[in-house]
Amino acid sequence: MSSSRENFQGGVFHASIPGGRAGANVSIVRGELIADTSGEPTQRFSIPLSQCKLDLGGATGRMVFCRTSDGSLTIFSEDKSFAKELDFQSGGVLAGQLSTLKKGQRAESNRFGFWLAVSAVACAALLVAGYYGVLSAAKVAMRALPVSVDEKIGTMAFNSMEVGRKLDANHPASKLVQEIVDKLKPHAKLPDMKFKVSVVEGSEVNAFALPGGQIVVYTGLIKEAKSAEQIAGVLAHEMSHATLRHGIERVGQSLGVVAAIQLLIGDVGGLLALGAQVAQTSILTSYSRTSETEADLEGVRMLHAAKIDPKAMADFFEMLKQKMGDLPDAVAWISTHPQHETRVENIQNHQKKLPEVQYEPLQLDLKTAQDAL
Ligand SMILES: [Zn+2]
Repeated sequence: MSSSRENFQGGVFHASIPGGRAGANVSIVRGELIADTSGEPTQRFSIPLSQCKLDLGGATGRMVFCRTSDGSLTIFSEDKSFAKELDFQSGGVLAGQLSTLKKGQRAESNRFGFWLAVSAVACAALLVAGYYGVLSAAKVAMRALPVSVDEKIGTMAFNSMEVGRKLDANHPASKLVQEIVDKLKPHAKLPDMKFKVSVVEGSEVNAFALPGGQIVVYTGLIKEAKSAEQIAGVLAHEMSHATLRHGIERVGQSLGVVAAIQLLIGDVGGLLALGAQVAQTSILTSYSRTSETEADLEGVRMLHAAKIDPKAMADFFEMLKQKMGDLPDAVAWISTHPQHETRVENIQNHQKKLPEVQYEPLQLDLKTAQDAL
């Protein structure tokens, strides 16, 4: 056996120490484990290695304890090389005990690894659930906002968009569109919504709604329409996006967590600023399939209630679909309303469920409006 090679940071448990415990400088000298306490005055304790009852413990499970057989004195260290040094200095006396401890430690660390993996999976699941939870909470929270928020976001969006030149309110096309909106408005789901329609110069067969009731109709769409009822169909669909608050829902979805937090802290101003950022993207005018179907069906309900034949809505979609090839600009509306295969059928089926009513043709001069464009 060699003399002490190393000192280890450690400690002692003994009744003679005030508090029963003290930090100590631990060393192994000629087969004896020696601990010199770090307090003043320093006390020396020793255990012959041959009498060590070894044990593992501490917060990390890596602390090595050497106890006397009666348990009255314990010397310990957490130093990584302490166990190795004990093995070396004891000349094999402690080898059996040490290997038993190691096996136990491996099992312990395997268990630890297992629980770590389980915890990681659980955390990941919670995070994912939390994320979607916050998203759906954001959706619900957005819907709980007053419609005035929709109006503000819609106005900001409209002002930040480059939509082309707006036709004068006295233009026959503007008047025609306004008259249709006025006819549909009393049947809107949110009767207090202030619809603002702008007819904008542009060859694309397009129309869109912004949150709060801002609606934009391109002159291209008016030119392509075969009847005022077809325009009414598109307008009813767009008005429904506004009354069903699809835009604000989109804002909630895309801002998600940030929006939810701002709502939680009641920062509607910050939310509006964020909404304006979103407004500058196309997010506000491209809705989910579910929203499109909802807008179709709500649009049919509005048309029906206004005694306008909802068949015109389906006809218009059908016409656009067929024209897509030779009318590249028609793609605009179709591209934001992609599921036209099933939608015509859906509209027709939905119409069949409504009580029978005598539809009244719109007394509007589409020809004059078109000729003025
Ligand atoms: Zn739509």
